[in-house]
Amino acid sequence: MKDKYGILGYPLGHSLSPYMHSRYNFYLNNGSGYDAYEIASDDLESSLKELHTAGVKGLNVTIPYKQAVIPYLSSMDESAAIVGAVNTLKYTAEGYIGYNTDVTGLRNCLIKNGLELKGRNVLILGAGGAARAAAYVAVRSGCKSLYILNRKLEKAGAVCRDFGGSSYDYSCLNTLPDTPFFVFQTTSVGMYPHIEDMLPLPDEMLNRFEAAVDLIYNPMPTRFLEKLSQRGIKTVTGFDMLIEQGLASRSIWNPEEKISDDIKRKVYDECVRYSRS
Ligand code: NAP
Repeated sequence: MKDKYGILGYPLGHSLSPYMHSRYNFYLNNGSGYDAYEIASDDLESSLKELHTAGVKGLNVTIPYKQAVIPYLSSMDESAAIVGAVNTLKYTAEGYIGYNTDVTGLRNCLIKNGLELKGRNVLILGAGGAARAAAYVAVRSGCKSLYILNRKLEKAGAVCRDFGGSSYDYSCLNTLPDTPFFVFQTTSVGMYPHIEDMLPLPDEMLNRFEAAVDLIYNPMPTRFLEKLSQRGIKTVTGFDMLIEQGLASRSIWNPEEKISDDIKRKVYDECVRYSRS
């Protein structure tokens, strides 16, 4: 095998990345491999060292390590440092450099779906790593106002300290302003296998949503998005973001790699079928 890549997380059964990157490698016929590294939390530092020693050229990082890996990196790029989370590592002789391609992935997903945040009131549900990437994109896109709603209020407050905006928990929903919202659903609520779960949001609030992106891509759509679609609200699943963040990771690992539109389309369609199988 030529070059080794992979994804680091726990658990990884839900992840589409190994299939997606293996299909790109197949069509590009580049001899590279992409493996799932399911690692327990007390092994993180030593596992990263082992992967580096083994010459693993690039890694994606997912739940629960997007913040936990930071102390073990040689450096981080600007967006990863501001977001405070990394999802992509690139090998260098000194150690791994951290990047955040969730930001690029989300930005490209919005463009692909014709969605514009400039001048919008943005409501982010959740305050984890994905919420921070969404807050970064919203603020950089010139949103009018930012609201962070999270189960743990202190985490919503921490996002607001870094990106601006106002923090809320579910006990003070009625104090949110009476405006239309562009919504990012960034919690893991409704993700496979708990597909019936939904955040406790009153119908009156859902009616004020003008568009919503749910970052979850399994299932597609989530119950939350189904409920909004039934109201005629524009909805976008997390699938386009997943595809776009994967392509952005590849161009960090191999800036010279060229993937034709035909290969992109084939892998996209195969991933849709795979995720529904
Ligand atoms: P994370 O850092 O662990 O954050 C999880 C968030 O979900 C927290 O805000 C947490 O609230 C909230 N949450 C969990 N269970 C909850 C419950 N029962 N009720 C209310 N809130 C709950 O995870 P993450 O990295 O941000 O990822 C979050 C989701 O985004 C995952 O589903 C992930 O697959 C998805 N994602 C998708 C993409 C993509 O490419 N499509 C990229 C990144 C992430 P508390 O703080 O109160 O615990």
